[in-house]
Amino acid sequence: MRAIAYMGPDDIRTIAADTPSCGPGQLKIRVHYAGICGTDMAIAAGKHPRAKAPLIMGHEFAGEVVEINPGDAPPPDVAIGDRVTIYPLLSCGQCHACRTGHPHVCRDLRLIGIDRDGGFAEYVCVPAEMVVKLPADMAFDTGALIEPLAVGMHAVAMADEGATRNAIVLGAGPIGLMVALALRSSGVADIVLTDINASRLERAGDMGFTVLDSNTCDVSAAILDRTAGEGADVLYECAGSESAAGQMCELVRGRGKIVMVGVHKAPHAVDLRTLNFREITMVGARVYTRADYQRAVDAAQQIPAENIISHRLDLDNAVQGFDLMKHPDGACKVLFQL
Ligand SMILES: [Zn+2]
Ligand SMILES: [Zn+2]
Repeated sequence: MRAIAYMGPDDIRTIAADTPSCGPGQLKIRVHYAGICGTDMAIAAGKHPRAKAPLIMGHEFAGEVVEINPGDAPPPDVAIGDRVTIYPLLSCGQCHACRTGHPHVCRDLRLIGIDRDGGFAEYVCVPAEMVVKLPADMAFDTGALIEPLAVGMHAVAMADEGATRNAIVLGAGPIGLMVALALRSSGVADIVLTDINASRLERAGDMGFTVLDSNTCDVSAAILDRTAGEGADVLYECAGSESAAGQMCELVRGRGKIVMVGVHKAPHAVDLRTLNFREITMVGARVYTRADYQRAVDAAQQIPAENIISHRLDLDNAVQGFDLMKHPDGACKVLFQL
């Protein structure tokens, strides 16, 4: 079979690999679409702490079940030909987080496509319990967006605010847009996205969101103006930048919330004094739970998640796909068609 593999730092190739065989308790999936994630970019650059070459990347994908090897386990709730995606997390089951019902923040969290071969391949075999069934009429490209949409669903769940009237999302890349879509599907009408990239702002605007160009606009003044001088109920930090970290507290109202979604690769200064004075709650958000996944599957049909897809590339265009992601002008979610 053909696959896209990380062969070493800055060495991504389309390779011929052995088609995996389906061990006991596993399913074989014929992958149709797989998305490139920021994590895949870190792997490709040789900067991911765990990924080891050679590795078939890809943890955001959808396809159809072509083989089931139930082994000793009860047969899974899927049949040959069903459309599926996967919940890619592998948790240890032993640590405090796992024992207390939060395996998505396992001390030793691992993922399909990072710690073992993933979905940038025509076929992948995964443990049956990782498979998530999709509606029979869901397009495979939409199915490949369930994972990033679940990130958005999880971020919204972490705010735990029944009464969110308005929200601001810093960063209008794929994750910022998924958070905005998740907010919209949860009934929040007033959603503002900020970015410095014109093409990202244009896409967010086309999707019906209010956008602010943080290059040219005083974001703080604009948010205070929209919220009668209070600040936003909830802020979702999806930019991962130093400037976003420095500004976020002043954009949130007293007793408001900040949900950290974007991963900051370095310690950045935060206005902790404002955090004190406004009694702002800041909370981290990592990946997603099974419940977030199900919410993403349910919502994906209603919201135009596929609007975030900017490119659908053939498997042979592996390098081009990663280059597009490095220069986000015009690129948002890049999918490989397998
Ligand atoms: Zn991802
Ligand atoms: Zn664990």
